[in-house]
Amino acid sequence: MNEDRPLGKFTQSKLDRCISCGYCLPACPTYQLTGEEQSSPRGRITLMRALQDGRLPFADAGAQEQASFCLGCRACEPVCPAGVEYGVLLEEWRDITWRGRKRPLIIKALFQMVNAPWRVNLMSALSPIARNRRASTDVHLALGCFERRLFPKVSKAVARLAPEVSIDRSQGCCGALHAHNGDLEGGNELAKQLGEKLPGTILSTAGGCAAHLSSVLGKDRVQEFSQWWEQSLSPIMKNGKPIRVGLQDSCHLRNGMGVFKEPRKILQQLGEYVEVPNAQGCCGAAGSYSLLRSRDSKRVIAPKVAAIKALELDFLVSVNPGCTRQLKSALRKARMKTKVVHIAELIALAP
Ligand code: SF4
Ligand code: SF4
Repeated sequence: MNEDRPLGKFTQSKLDRCISCGYCLPACPTYQLTGEEQSSPRGRITLMRALQDGRLPFADAGAQEQASFCLGCRACEPVCPAGVEYGVLLEEWRDITWRGRKRPLIIKALFQMVNAPWRVNLMSALSPIARNRRASTDVHLALGCFERRLFPKVSKAVARLAPEVSIDRSQGCCGALHAHNGDLEGGNELAKQLGEKLPGTILSTAGGCAAHLSSVLGKDRVQEFSQWWEQSLSPIMKNGKPIRVGLQDSCHLRNGMGVFKEPRKILQQLGEYVEVPNAQGCCGAAGSYSLLRSRDSKRVIAPKVAAIKALELDFLVSVNPGCTRQLKSALRKARMKTKVVHIAELIALAP
């Protein structure tokens, strides 16, 4: 246990950092939705302080609602002049309030799916993902639990593009799901186990997993795919013209790891790159959020869908499986022809 963090409390020094300046308010999607202080980063930190001091019980319904309503997108971090680590505070908040029986049922079910190694192995066995291989370099692909099940083509694209990368289908969960949903200890332990299983550099195709692994194992051990990719590329043509392509940032990749120029640099080579308005803003997927708070998740993505529609893109690129799922579903419902793909899948289409 961290000395600065008594059992069942926040890390005091992290709470103390906030100077209540309010610079984070315009960046916060839930504040944009409600216009209410309590749904803003500053408002939530005020609530955390009241919980810490005992002026409010942790069971307070209003406080619990705000811990749940927050997307965990960390858009409040890069704009904060005081360097408040809001993402860590939110993880601590959920660790305190969602512990044990209080954890939402959907989260319990998701934990069950990935906690047992045999269930994760079953996901690998049931999905046509890349095959096991031992390559010459010390770079290992992290397969991601849900990415390997929902989007098996991503690991296959990486396997084809990067023969120097090793692939081990028996690897387990990285623990990001746990850390973001009230089990910090479990999340850290799983990240360490994955770090031992995949020595050297861990290459991740999921922004959320990359950011979590990097926070536990250190930046030197983890590279997200667009950060790692160095080869120059030729444009992909459609009807005699370069494709029109846009990007949706991954919140944790951008706000947690500071990676956002790298995917754009790749896409600028692959076609006519079009910046999606508010690409840095959360798409509403936010890990388990789209399952837990489906209505709010749809409210967050609605303006984004309208903006993407106006751009008439051939491809919308994602760098995180949760975002891919959310965008695919929203664009399909809006009857749009724009294809949502992972950046590795698009690179694999280049001549
Ligand atoms: S979190 Fe940062 S930006 Fe927001 S009110 Fe506190 S100090 Fe200001
Ligand atoms: S993590 Fe996102 S939703 Fe939560 S307070 Fe920060 S900006 Fe707002």
